[in-house]
Amino acid sequence: MQLYNLKHPSQVVSFTEAVKLGLGKDRGLFFPTHIPVLEDMETLLSQPFVERSKKVIGAWLASELGQDTVDTLVENAFNFDLPLVKADENRYCLELFHGPTLAFKDFGARFMAQCLNVLAKGEKINILTATSGDTGAAVADAFFGLDAINVVVLYPKGKISLLQEKMFTTLGKNIHTVAIDSDFDACQGLVKQSFEDSEIRDGLHLNSANSINISRLLAQICYYFEAVAQFKRQHDDLPVIAVPSGNFGNLTAGLFAKAMGLPIKYFVAATNSNDTVPRYLAEGQWLPNTTVATMSNAMDVAEPSNWPRVEAIVDKMDWSLADIKGVALSEAQTSRGLRTLHEVGYLSEPHGAIAADALTQIMCAEEKGIFLGTAHPAKFNEVVEAELNIEVPLPEPLAVVVDKTILSIDLSANFSDLKAHLFKILT
Ligand SMILES: *Cc1c(COP(=O)(O)O)cnc(C)c1O
Repeated sequence: MQLYNLKHPSQVVSFTEAVKLGLGKDRGLFFPTHIPVLEDMETLLSQPFVERSKKVIGAWLASELGQDTVDTLVENAFNFDLPLVKADENRYCLELFHGPTLAFKDFGARFMAQCLNVLAKGEKINILTATSGDTGAAVADAFFGLDAINVVVLYPKGKISLLQEKMFTTLGKNIHTVAIDSDFDACQGLVKQSFEDSEIRDGLHLNSANSINISRLLAQICYYFEAVAQFKRQHDDLPVIAVPSGNFGNLTAGLFAKAMGLPIKYFVAATNSNDTVPRYLAEGQWLPNTTVATMSNAMDVAEPSNWPRVEAIVDKMDWSLADIKGVALSEAQTSRGLRTLHEVGYLSEPHGAIAADALTQIMCAEEKGIFLGTAHPAKFNEVVEAELNIEVPLPEPLAVVVDKTILSIDLSANFSDLKAHLFKILT
């Protein structure tokens, strides 16, 4: 697989290099020079998830890594269920939250950890990543105990739920966590700045585990195939797919799946009031506002870093941005989304509920849609319990962290403080 830097097209790298580098020159995103198209979709969709995913990922990576290696990566990374559950007459949820940290980020993080473990054998690696909540847990879980790899996670202090925080700040060992006194965009900015700093780059050999890392996106392509496969067992027409979006890695993966030949009617990009993309789609102007805190905090992103990839795919495929339907939901509409689902007997959480409500707003009567269930309701139990007036029992992975101690260090959003801290813990 070859990828080029969207900012400097002359920088061309292999998948192995792209995974290790994370970002290209001048923070440019890596983008594939070629998008493979899969033949015989019918047969492919009839296969079980893991078998099919080997083919989907093999189409990108077999020429570089060999199909046997791809098979092992996929088998090790994807070892949990992803059921398509009917919520009401027109809407289904693809539940992506049955992995070890109860969010869809487990797919990308587990696959990335497998890739790095194989591709960087023996080399010492330092991973620096920012989280709006769920990436931290998924990355920490996926890399915990891998001795050659240190992980540093930055997160916005007080802006993620206590349970989310406990899932990745209580591990210790090779997982270092830093609570930044600001918002997610500031954390993401600090990560980007670290990658640009030559002393850090040369001295610490940093890698990023954010959804700017191409390995995470390849993993996420696979579950779109599963969504359509399960949907097609019940319906002849094509599904609309609504993606609860923050940094837009998830939607990017969906567009890659469609470009590979997966039949999807169209995508709905659903956000909370951090609505840079829906406004851009409606008005044609990219005008990020200041990030606002919402109950769907994993989507509190005003400057989504994967957007250039979305545009690159649309461009390459000769699609139109107008085919992506943008919907931004207020907090009141998010509550409505949660309550409406609960009334028909489906328990969701704010992120999934936003996508579900967006489907209702966009679809016409004869269309059917799938919304991505990106997190387990218990992960957002405070909001869910308050909104629905119910009790949400804690599943095992959450119950075990409740009483553990948070081991994070507090830092301001000042780059030089972070730099000093990184050298202290990583050298
Ligand atoms: C990360 C996250 C999102 C947003 O996904 P992006 O790929 O950043 O757009 C949505 N929901 C949950 C629960 C998340 O953790």
